[in-house]
Amino acid sequence: MAEQFASKRNLKFMLYEVFNAEELNQYEYFQDHSRETFDMILDTFYKIGSDFLYPLYQELDKNPPQYVDGQAKVNPAYREYMKMCGEVGWLNANWSYDEGGQQVPTTITMACSFVLAAANCGMTGFPMLTTGAANLIRVFGSQELKDCYLEKMMAGEWQGTMALTEPGAGSSLADIASTAEDTGKGYYKIKGQKIFISCGDTDATDNTIHLMLARIKGAPAGVKGISLFVVPKFRFIEDGSLERNDILCAGLEHKMGFKGSPICTLNMGEEGDCWGYLVGEANMGLAYMFQMMNEARIGVGIAAVGKATAAYYDALEYTKQRLQGRKANQKDPSSPQVPLIEHADIKRMLLFQRAVCEGGLGLGLQLAKYTDLAEVGQDKEKYELLIDFMVPMVKTFPAEYGILSTSAAIQCLGGYGYCSDFPVEQHFRDIRIDPIHEGTTGIQAQDLLGRKSTMKKGAAYRLFMEEAGKTIAAAAVIPEFKLQADTLAQGLQIMNDVATYLFGVQKEKGAEEFLADATLYLEMVSLLAVGWQWLMQGIVAYNALQGQPTQGDERFYLGKLQTLKYFFTYEIPRVNSLAHVIKTSQGLTANMDVSLFEEE
Ligand SMILES: Cc1cc2nc3c(=O)[nH]c(=O)nc-3n(C[C@H](O)[C@H](O)[C@H](O)COP(=O)(O)OP(=O)(O)OC[C@H]3O[C@@H](n4cnc5c(N)ncnc54)[C@H](O)[C@@H]3O)c2cc1C
Repeated sequence: MAEQFASKRNLKFMLYEVFNAEELNQYEYFQDHSRETFDMILDTFYKIGSDFLYPLYQELDKNPPQYVDGQAKVNPAYREYMKMCGEVGWLNANWSYDEGGQQVPTTITMACSFVLAAANCGMTGFPMLTTGAANLIRVFGSQELKDCYLEKMMAGEWQGTMALTEPGAGSSLADIASTAEDTGKGYYKIKGQKIFISCGDTDATDNTIHLMLARIKGAPAGVKGISLFVVPKFRFIEDGSLERNDILCAGLEHKMGFKGSPICTLNMGEEGDCWGYLVGEANMGLAYMFQMMNEARIGVGIAAVGKATAAYYDALEYTKQRLQGRKANQKDPSSPQVPLIEHADIKRMLLFQRAVCEGGLGLGLQLAKYTDLAEVGQDKEKYELLIDFMVPMVKTFPAEYGILSTSAAIQCLGGYGYCSDFPVEQHFRDIRIDPIHEGTTGIQAQDLLGRKSTMKKGAAYRLFMEEAGKTIAAAAVIPEFKLQADTLAQGLQIMNDVATYLFGVQKEKGAEEFLADATLYLEMVSLLAVGWQWLMQGIVAYNALQGQPTQGDERFYLGKLQTLKYFFTYEIPRVNSLAHVIKTSQGLTANMDVSLFEEE
């Protein structure tokens, strides 16, 4: 394993030079923080990452959880980690002081999440789901629910889950069939089955608090009839003690990657006595759950950046050390072999990985900064619209391009990349889940094209164009970036033409043909968004080079400019071909008769 799984130098560049995280301290909500507190937090999480999580990365993969005594028996390190997360205040770091939090900006906590995922992505699910579940109770739950659950969850003694998926309802949550019947005694009786529930029932904590979607008997069909419930593994009874609830883990799935983290099948109400507590109003469940789903989508994106980054550093270290062959213009067989990194094709693959990882991280931190500005009430509506628009990209670009990036890391190592001696094959397996869970790429794409691009009469779409436009304007006056600024401006024009074309298709031919190539549209817009991020990073690096950087800094900034040039030369041109396909496919898939797949 490489010594480095995530670069502190790069993270500080992103936080302080590109996103100017310190400017958040001018707002009352964040006023107790400073560069010193931010650095302290980052150092703490680097230490947890390097001393505790990173050494366990391969071990957890080799020894996945087992189904023992009706629950997932996980490595004891999970219990220790959850406790540690509670003790350092990680689980509610963003919450207000009144709620027991530390009012840490999301920009900083997202940077920490990236570090933790790079160190050991499999362990990050437990805290992430616990915070997300607690956030639902905190925002939509009654005082009684808050009093019963939040303290223990925030201490890391109890964990949370997100219980949506069912055998008959994966992407289509409208078809959820689990039922809830009001007992009139302050709780509902829940019946049904959930599958694939991450960290669903384990011995990592003393209680599991499921935030579960179910349908109250007699509720309308579809999404309008879904309600949200707290379904604890151990429920409170009248004297304040706990007893086992009628929710059972029926087994674990065996996965290709992400093996340290269990996913469970849960059966509710087999004995007719599974208690669930309604959160907020009846039939509002999916709307509430979107809060946790969005947090999880962003979390998946940033975790994917972490995995791809750790694989990149493995590839970087290996290619510096392994001697293989000679430069193409060196014909003398008695001359010494060169390290792999000297070969142009290896440099191309490393630049690709760096472009994906640092571009994807930029996208995530951009969204985090918008979240903080919305939190302090600065142009709240504007930033919330931008966040909505960017979530599908922040989730999908690192997930999809991260697979390609970790695959390139394997390729850099050659045969050893395919073997388990090095962790790159594990990163490749681990990241493969990211385009699937928390809404598949296809679902994210439909969300971006079918909803986010048109919502509020296209307001979010226009704001995104404006934000990218500001960076283009700043780059256009620097001769070094003229080409890239023009390319990005043309790319946004292409995106506009494609969107206009697609809205015409929607009007003339209907939703099926309109959404048929939504995934291509999402890829096209994401490439432009990452191009925007690279241009932002490039401007900062260029300006820093005009001063008197140290030798190390000079190399770092020049490396940034090289990766920016790589991205615009090798990756952004894909925008043209994606646009071409979208505009010429003419319903090729949407209108295809599926019998054409038959072979006799
Ligand atoms: C490791 C792991 C962890 C998970 N954790 C959780 C969890 O904690 N909680 C939870 O509730 N669930 C969890 N899930 C479930 C996960 O969210 C679902 O697997 C995912 O939403 C996809 O649902 P599905 O598997 O039923 O696939 P399907 O919905 O059957 O999708 C299969 C394919 O069809 C496409 N597709 C589906 N519908 C459409 C459509 N209308 N138009 C076009 N294409 C479509 C999809 O994009 C996908 O490519 C987890 C799954 C895994 C594997």
